[in-house]
Amino acid sequence: MNYKYLPFAVLLFVILLLVHDRSTEAWGFWSHRQINRYAILSLPADMKPFFNKYAETIIERSVEPDTKRHSDSLEQFHHYIDIDRYGAYPFNDLPRNYDSAIVKFGKGRVDSSGIVPWRIADFTAKLTRAMKQRRTDEIIYYASYIGHYVADAHVPLHTTDNYDGQHTNQKGIHSRWESRIPEMFGDGFNLRPQDVEYVRDPLHHAFAVVLESYLKVDSVLAIDLEALASVPENRRFKSVERRGKTETQLSDDYYREYHTRLNGMVERRLNESIKGVASYWYTAWVDAGRPDLLK
Ligand SMILES: [Zn+2]
Repeated sequence: MNYKYLPFAVLLFVILLLVHDRSTEAWGFWSHRQINRYAILSLPADMKPFFNKYAETIIERSVEPDTKRHSDSLEQFHHYIDIDRYGAYPFNDLPRNYDSAIVKFGKGRVDSSGIVPWRIADFTAKLTRAMKQRRTDEIIYYASYIGHYVADAHVPLHTTDNYDGQHTNQKGIHSRWESRIPEMFGDGFNLRPQDVEYVRDPLHHAFAVVLESYLKVDSVLAIDLEALASVPENRRFKSVERRGKTETQLSDDYYREYHTRLNGMVERRLNESIKGVASYWYTAWVDAGRPDLLK
């Protein structure tokens, strides 16, 4: 090794450690791309030509907020909110206004608990402005990112302090639900364009999505335990060779059980994400005065 680079290597290692505490990636890349793809197909004819023209970019950039977390340590906080750090459902102790929340709980606590609803509202306002001014690059940027954040807010484990089952001895549940299940069974999902709806209050609606996700947390966790218990012990795990090492992973039998017992929840949440993303884009466009974005 060239020791000239040692300080950089150490620094990089430390950065990775710092960034890694919330490393689980929302939905997985496959799902994020599908969500933006079907959201574009959901749009009304008047605003669709712009999105069709830049479809490839908007689909590809749906995953950028996740890759960006490696270079921007603040990015991770935009993807979730551990809303159960604020008391009990429906968490009325938490002011929905960001400035009021900060006055009450302090910026450090609010930001580190995740700020996805505020990020969605903020980016919707910015997308509206970009559409009004017909700034193509900004429209693509804000639309792609809104696609990611709105989708993340639909994931139950993005709304709880127990985001990876670490408090209930279910570590790894985060990627089992949002990445592994879509990877294994996504081909059989019936993803489709959805009816868009105007969002009257982008912030309030983002909180409503979060609360809806939060109400599914108990099922996500309980069904995981049921699935585990239903698979005989000798078929619960499998050994996989990875980078020359033998790793123990949960078996395909477990995943089949978990998926079956979830009874379509992952697929439903994907379709609801599609509807949510398209509705936020549509709302920005209506608020911008329904401009011809390609002009
Ligand atoms: Zn994310």
